[in-house]
Amino acid sequence: MATCQDCTHASTDPHWGGYHCSCGGCQVRALANGPQFWRSLKDRQRTPGYLAELVTVFGEEEAETGHKAVFAEYQRLKKLRGGTP
Ligand SMILES: [Zn+2]
Repeated sequence: MATCQDCTHASTDPHWGGYHCSCGGCQVRALANGPQFWRSLKDRQRTPGYLAELVTVFGEEEAETGHKAVFAEYQRLKKLRGGTP
């Protein structure tokens, strides 16, 4: 996975708001911070909007793999946020 300057910042700052649209890491982070993913967590099932985002970013074949990456990123960010007062 490509790493850009925004990914480097976001690795230590969970509130970092910069993204490179061509960067895989940023795309995963954008989805993990997105309203569709949040809604899917809240409803305990993937919303059609979130599924569409997964397919758009990762493609039909890789949507499941993509979701795992998004979920892992969500957990990483949550942990980072939990560590800051
Ligand atoms: Zn990036």
